[in-house]
Amino acid sequence: MLYNSTRNTNVRINASAAIKQGLSEEGGLFLPESIPAVSLEQIEALSKLSYPERAKYVLGLYLTDFTQEELDDVVSVYNKERFETDSVAPVYKLNQRTFFLELWHGPTCAFKDMALQVLPRLLTKSAKKNDDGKEIVILTATSGDTGKAALEGFKDVEGTKIAVFYPVSGVSNIQKLQMVTQQGDNVGVCAVEGNFDDAQTGVKKIFTDAEYKKELSDKGYVFSSANSINWGRLAPQIVYYFSAYCDMLAGGEIQLGEKINVVVPTGNFGNILAAYYAKNMGVPIGKLICASNQNNVLTDFISTGEYNRNRGFFTTASPSMDILISSNLERLLFELSGKSAEVTGEWMKQLTEAGKYTVPDEIKIKLNDLFWGGYCSDLDTALTIDDTYKKYGYVIDPHTAVGKNVYDQYLTETDDATKTIIASTASPYKFSKFVNESIGISIADKDEFQILEDLCVASGIKIPKSLAGLKNAEIRFNSVASKEALKEYVDSIL
Ligand SMILES: *Cc1c(COP(=O)(O)O)cnc(C)c1O
Repeated sequence: MLYNSTRNTNVRINASAAIKQGLSEEGGLFLPESIPAVSLEQIEALSKLSYPERAKYVLGLYLTDFTQEELDDVVSVYNKERFETDSVAPVYKLNQRTFFLELWHGPTCAFKDMALQVLPRLLTKSAKKNDDGKEIVILTATSGDTGKAALEGFKDVEGTKIAVFYPVSGVSNIQKLQMVTQQGDNVGVCAVEGNFDDAQTGVKKIFTDAEYKKELSDKGYVFSSANSINWGRLAPQIVYYFSAYCDMLAGGEIQLGEKINVVVPTGNFGNILAAYYAKNMGVPIGKLICASNQNNVLTDFISTGEYNRNRGFFTTASPSMDILISSNLERLLFELSGKSAEVTGEWMKQLTEAGKYTVPDEIKIKLNDLFWGGYCSDLDTALTIDDTYKKYGYVIDPHTAVGKNVYDQYLTETDDATKTIIASTASPYKFSKFVNESIGISIADKDEFQILEDLCVASGIKIPKSLAGLKNAEIRFNSVASKEALKEYVDSIL
């Protein structure tokens, strides 16, 4: 299996080269030349296997230059110690037709663990295969979830170092505690004066500083990022849609070949794109339902065919979806345009220059055939959390609630009786303040840990050990830097 770039189809490289490089030179994203097909018989066979075995099969179809032993090592991260459950990504049945795919049992309690636990192994193996031998230095700016998930993924991984920068004002207390108490000998965490954009700008400046890159290269280091556009992050996300279908099949919820719908709370379009790949590989998936918060650029795109980022930016209760440029959409556009690098590149150019582009009718028809889009306000997010709790005793986080709300809108409009999986992307504990307020538990005068305890009583779900343990964890990092001085911080950890 070889990989093209969305902006240059003459690029044809191995999976490991695509993963190591991350982004193609001309700015395009890597994607497989063809989508491997999986038969229903194979899906039935997978339904009898464990999560790591399913992962090995699906990843093996894409990462064809990895050996069986390498794949075994890669999927071995999907274990009970890291994911607190044997099934890794369990399916929770809410009612006869609604199911939640719980993707948050990993070490940082959000779905990014599903990919960021395996990415370090993919990356170090890819670097070795491409005969580089340099130590990989990961730099990441984070608005909360990604940074911690990357730290947990890369901690003590041989041949790597990682520095994470978070905005002083901009992450929740729990998120900050998660990062500043990070364990591991190869990690660094530094606060940046300013907001997320300042942190991001500071990191980008290092990435584009040719002189600094050369200096570090001479010392045996090479920069890389754990960004969600890396194919090494997308491929592991395809696995859990197979796994969910297999679990429903094994549990007698569906017949082999029966279609299911999938709802995904969406930001950068990575998670829902993985569902699109699963569908195209042969998982019987009907509609892909794209759920947004108040930053509803994708909802508008699906309904009008115009992608327009020239609009106000909202800080919402589902912060990991506060995004106006959904980077992974570029891969879908490439596929829908009949793999035209020229057309895709032109739209991306318009997006950079004018902040918008419009796809022609024939593409919009394809888009609407595959996707249904909707969005949800913070108020409705809170009401949905409350309603789901009152009706079913099941507590969901704000991102997942956006998915549930948009699914309810879809049902109102279509009355589609197809069984449906909603991707549950974070543990309610990760956003416990908003969740508790939504279900009517007072948070006044309570510290973070009391709020977790209260939610435990209400939900009956165990507090994840990684969050409970924060209470007594040692603070290891207290550096604060201006966005101009991030280089000095990187130097200090190398
Ligand atoms: C990152 C994230 C999302 C959005 O996923 P994309 O792949 O960027 O669309 C949704 N929910 C949570 C909790 C996240 O951390």
